[in-house]
Amino acid sequence: MSRIVKVIAAVTLLWAMGLAAVAQAQSADFNALARVDAAQSRLTQVEDRVTLDLALSQGVPYRAYTLEAAGDVPRRLVLDFREVDWQGITPEALGQAEAIGGLRFGAVRPGWSRMVLDLARPLVLDQAGLRILPESGAARLRIVLRAASAEEFAALSGAPHDPAFDLPAPEPVDRTARPRVGEGPLVVVLDPGHGGIDPGAERDGLSEKELMLTFARELQDVLVRDGNFEVVLTRTDDSFVSLDRRVALAHAMGGQVFISLHADALSEGQAHGATVHLLSDSASDAASATLAERHDRDDLLAGIDLTGQDDQVAGILMDLARQETQPRAERLAQALVAGIRGAELPLNSRPVRRAAFSVLKAADIPSILLEVGFLSSPRDLKNLRDPAWRLQMAEAIREGLTLWVAEDAILSDLVRQ
Ligand SMILES: [Zn+2]
Repeated sequence: MSRIVKVIAAVTLLWAMGLAAVAQAQSADFNALARVDAAQSRLTQVEDRVTLDLALSQGVPYRAYTLEAAGDVPRRLVLDFREVDWQGITPEALGQAEAIGGLRFGAVRPGWSRMVLDLARPLVLDQAGLRILPESGAARLRIVLRAASAEEFAALSGAPHDPAFDLPAPEPVDRTARPRVGEGPLVVVLDPGHGGIDPGAERDGLSEKELMLTFARELQDVLVRDGNFEVVLTRTDDSFVSLDRRVALAHAMGGQVFISLHADALSEGQAHGATVHLLSDSASDAASATLAERHDRDDLLAGIDLTGQDDQVAGILMDLARQETQPRAERLAQALVAGIRGAELPLNSRPVRRAAFSVLKAADIPSILLEVGFLSSPRDLKNLRDPAWRLQMAEAIREGLTLWVAEDAILSDLVRQ
């Protein structure tokens, strides 16, 4: 095992070294937020040319690029900005263009905002320019798109070669020094689902992204007070974090278990009660497959391209590491279910399920995705709104983790003998 981990660490380090330059650029000083002036901003279309004019209170660094369609996610234009405040502006206020199927914007990582336009047909960048008005210091960004063939669009599209944009700054981690489970506090990575430009499920003015950040903080308190856990969060504010970044952060933080927290809405069937998902190539049912697809799709809609990330050699090494990790993740799922059952909180009738969730793909960290409840279930929605109920759920998860630590320490001793 340790040899596999070392090789993975070496691969990760090589890949991380290439990112250092960009990470440095990102640590440059922050200016105040630029505000968008809705009254002076608009989206217009004349024949096959689409123009987006954005009035900003000051100039900001930005980048623009197009992405190919993927599955049912259409072709997109992505605009990234440093520190833009979108408050008070709505997609409707910008106007409509027949060639633009949808438009959304929001925080994408600390310090960065993103606007994504769904393209109803192939349109490529014709002009992109930011002009500073000398008298006021305000800025005008103009993006012009022109019609193109599908081939030309494909040739000109793709995320800029800047992988560090969404990945944590590299930090040397001595993996050989990672403590075994049962020696010292367990490092738990809590991953509040969704965030920023991706709200997750929404019901009655409540969004999954806000609810899961609140619950992650409450669970963190319960675990830290216990004394046997150290807790880190993959996000601590309302920013978008890609699935790859969540996994990379778990490694960078030295996580020993990874728990992704969700409260999705499912229209098909009546999903209710806590459900634990494990990583698998084949989904255990249609609902799990839908959830996994929806979460990967959220990344694509937010302008993150997941394609071409794993190279083959790393893939084989990861498969080997996964063979050791997967039984530990299975026991983690069972232990959490036991904790929730012991507290007599609502559990799904089939509480452990499997599907291809990208966020669970860390090869050497037991990872599960917990649907704490479903916003589409009136009973779960009522529970999730109730701080006293959430506290009970947090305590049940703590019980489950405590069970797992005891079991994992014994079983890994057996493996060693
Ligand atoms: Zn979710």
